[in-house]
Amino acid sequence: MASLLLWQAVAAVSQTRVIAHRGFWDTPGSAQNSITALQRAQQAGVYGSELDILLTSDGVPVVNHDDVLGGMRIEDTPYGRLKDLTLPNGEPLPTLEAYLEQGKKDPSVRLVLEIKPHSTTNREDCAVLAVTGLVERLGMEAQVEYISFSLNICRKLKEFAPEAQVAYLEGNLSPDDVKRAGLDGIDYHHSLLATHPDWVARAHALGLTVNAWTVNREEDMRRLIEAGADFITTDNPLLLQKLLSEKKK
Ligand code: MG
Repeated sequence: MASLLLWQAVAAVSQTRVIAHRGFWDTPGSAQNSITALQRAQQAGVYGSELDILLTSDGVPVVNHDDVLGGMRIEDTPYGRLKDLTLPNGEPLPTLEAYLEQGKKDPSVRLVLEIKPHSTTNREDCAVLAVTGLVERLGMEAQVEYISFSLNICRKLKEFAPEAQVAYLEGNLSPDDVKRAGLDGIDYHHSLLATHPDWVARAHALGLTVNAWTVNREEDMRRLIEAGADFITTDNPLLLQKLLSEKKK
C-alpha cells in the first residue's frame, strides 16, 4: 500500500518527456536518421532523440531504418560499398560513431538507440556487442538507452551492458512479462496502450518506464500525457513540447 501511494505521488508530479522519432527530421534540409535530424533535435531541446541501427556485413554499425539501402541489404554488404550512399537530404549514410560524436556535443539530449532485428541471433549478438562496445569506447554509457523489437537483442543488451536502460518495442508481452524478462521498460505503439488502459499503471507499479510510439496526433498526445506515459516518441516534437508547456501553466 505504501509503495502504491508513493508511486501515485511520483506519478502526480512526473512529466511526460519528448523523444524525437528518428531525430527531428520533418523540417527543411533534414532527413530521417540523418545527423542533421539529430542537430535539429538538439536545437529543439528535446529530452531524447531516437535512431535506428543496423550492422554491416563487416561489423560497422550504421544509422538507417530500412534494412535495404540503394538496393543492397545492409547486413549483407560491407561498409565500403555503402558509405557513399546518400540520404534524401544529401548526407552520406551515417555511421553510428559519427552519429554518437554529434550526440556527445550536447549531453543534455539522451540518445535512444534502437537496434533493429537482424537475420540470425548470431548477427543480433554481434550488433549488440558492436554498439555497446562503441558506446563504452566513447564514454557515453550515461547518455544512451536502448530499445528493440527483438527480445533476443534486449536480453543481450542487459547481458553486455547490465546498467543500461532497455525497453521492449514489440508489444506482445505484458508489463509483467517484460519485468520477468529483466528489462526496464515498455515502449509500445500508442494504439496498443489504448487497448490495455491498465498497462501504464501496471508498468509503473513494477518499476518499468512507459514510452509510446509514434504519436503524431494531438488527441493521442493528450491522452498519453493524461495516462501518465513517461515518454512519447513523435515525428512532431514541437507540437508535443507546446502541449506539455501549456499543461504546466
Ligand atoms: Mg526506430
